[in-house]
Amino acid sequence: MSRILRVKDKDFKLLIPRSAIATRVAALAEQINADFHGQEVLFVGIMNGSFIFAADLLREIKLCATISFMRLSSYQGQSSAGQVEMVFGLPGDLKGKNVIVLEDIVETGTTLEYAIGMIKKMNPARLAVATLLFKPQALTRTISLDYVGFELEENFVVGYGLDYDGYGRNLSSLYVMA
Ligand code: 5GP
Ligand code: MG
Repeated sequence: MSRILRVKDKDFKLLIPRSAIATRVAALAEQINADFHGQEVLFVGIMNGSFIFAADLLREIKLCATISFMRLSSYQGQSSAGQVEMVFGLPGDLKGKNVIVLEDIVETGTTLEYAIGMIKKMNPARLAVATLLFKPQALTRTISLDYVGFELEENFVVGYGLDYDGYGRNLSSLYVMA
């Protein structure tokens, strides 16, 4: 099997195989299960990129859990547009609830800072963040990440929910631009 693949008009190479992602996602779920033992949790997935991470993580969660999604957008092509625009938001009331935000990848932190700000205004009991991927060198905002799957260099990745101009979300492994 070739480890180089073309998504739209760019070449990508394998970065993290699906088996390693599955192992890490299960470990994150285990930490969450322990940290929130006996409590109810509302997961909030940031669309679109987190949908596969959210689906896999949730199936490893043993808590009394619900999930909702919010859609934000700050990214165009391969660089962050630097401005967050909310497309559709949170249903219901978060007051007094334990909320865990699920993000695919944190780069500058702009998207997450915006999401956290919105959620905090609704006075949750406890607020945590789980991100599959984190590019620590790109972070410009002051945010704290409670659960991180993998730390990456600043290179552009696709697969497992993350896209390149809309394509590549269906890839079951993670790939980096070659
Ligand atoms: P931030 O707001 O932290 O700068 O960027 C976060 C958002 O940018 C993520 O939710 C994701 O949608 C997008 N993003 C950042 N880095 C990458 C990347 O390497 N690949 C893809 N496909 N999206 C990225
Ligand atoms: Mg995203």
